[in-house]
Amino acid sequence: MTIGIVGGGQLGRMLALAGYPLGQDFLFLDRSADTPAGQVAPSLVGEFTDRKLLRALAARSEVITFDWENVSLEGLRALGRAARIAPPLAALAASQDRIAEKKLFARLDIPTTRYAAVSSVATLVRALRDVGLPGVLKTRRLGYDGKGQAVVRNVEEAWHAYERLRGAPLIYEEFVPFDCEVSIIGARNRHGEIAVYPLNHNRHREGILRLTRAPYGTAALQARATRHLRRVLEHFRYEGILNIEFFVRGGRLIANETAPRVHNSGHWTIEGAATSQFENHLRAILGLPLGATGMRGHAAMINLIGELPARELVLATPEAHWHDYGKKPRPGRKVGHVTVLAANAARRDATARKLLRAIDPASL
Ligand code: AMP
Repeated sequence: MTIGIVGGGQLGRMLALAGYPLGQDFLFLDRSADTPAGQVAPSLVGEFTDRKLLRALAARSEVITFDWENVSLEGLRALGRAARIAPPLAALAASQDRIAEKKLFARLDIPTTRYAAVSSVATLVRALRDVGLPGVLKTRRLGYDGKGQAVVRNVEEAWHAYERLRGAPLIYEEFVPFDCEVSIIGARNRHGEIAVYPLNHNRHREGILRLTRAPYGTAALQARATRHLRRVLEHFRYEGILNIEFFVRGGRLIANETAPRVHNSGHWTIEGAATSQFENHLRAILGLPLGATGMRGHAAMINLIGELPARELVLATPEAHWHDYGKKPRPGRKVGHVTVLAANAARRDATARKLLRAIDPASL
C-alpha cells in the first residue's frame, strides 16, 4: 500500500521513515530525484503542476498528501475523483493565502491581527491609516521562513517595503510586540477522532525557527490553543496533521498562520512523544486509530541551519538525538535538527544551551 507525497523535502523523508514500521510504501513527486525523501523512497521527477505526473502518482497511491503548503492547488484539484487527497484541499487553499487565512480565523472566532489587503498605492495608504504603524507588509502567497515580508515602522519604510514586494498581492498587518511565539499541533482522522500535542514554544531568528521547547505554558493556555485547533480541524472535517502558530501577548493568543501538514515545531515528537507527528499524520490520512500524544520527557529541538556541525559533539551528549536530512549546505537552509529529551525542564534547557553555544550561539 503506497502513500503518494507531493514534495520530497525533509518532512517527506521523516514521513516515510515513520511509515515503514506501519508497513507502508511511499512514492514522491519532486523536481529532483536527489531530495531528502528521494534518498529513502522512489520519486517521480518533474514539476508539481505536471498533470500527467500527478495522475501517475494518483494511479499508484492509496492516498495523496503533501509535505509543504505551496504545492499546486490547481494540479491537485484537477485530479478530481482519480485520487483521495488528505488533508482537504480547502484547508490547503486557506493556508496558501494569508487573507483567506485571516477570514478563516475570523469566521471561527479565533483572535488574529488586524489587517488590510494591499494591491496599489491607494490601498497601501488606506491600510496604513486603518491598521496603523508599526506593521508588517507581507506577500499574500508563497511566503515562508520570513521571506516575502518586511517590518514597517514609519511611512518611509512602508514605501520601501512596497517598492520591494509590489508585483504580488500583499497584506499589511499590525505588528504584534509579542512576549513569545507558540504553536499547537494536532491530528484528526475521518472518524472524527482528534489527538493534540502539548504546546510548543518557538524562537525564531531572521524569520527562521531556531529553537522549539515543549511542553510550554499553563493548562489554561494549552486548553485555549487546543480549542482553536479543534475548531479548524472540525470546520474542514480535516484528515491529517494541522499546525497553528500564535503570538502570545499578555497571556492572550493571537493566531498568525496555519500549516496543513507536519511542522518543524513538531520534530521533537519523534523522540519526545508517545507517537510522532509523522506517524499520526499517516494514521490520520489512512483512517487508522490515532496514537497517544503524551510526552516522554521535556523536549527541545534545535534546527541546524546552513551546514551541519560536527556530529560527534551532539552524539557525545547523552540526551541528544541527531537528524541529518541529506541536504547540501547552503546559507539559511534547514539541513538537520537535534532533539534533546530530558527528565525535567531545567536539565533540558541546560543541555540545549550547551549545544546552542556550540552550534548557533546567536540564537541563545
Ligand atoms: P510568518 O511568515 O508570518 O510566519 O512570519 C515569520 C516570523 O516573522 C514570525 O514567526 C514572527 O516572528 C515574525 N512576524 C510575522 N508577522 C508578525 C507580526 N504581525 N508581528 C510581529 N512579528 C511578526
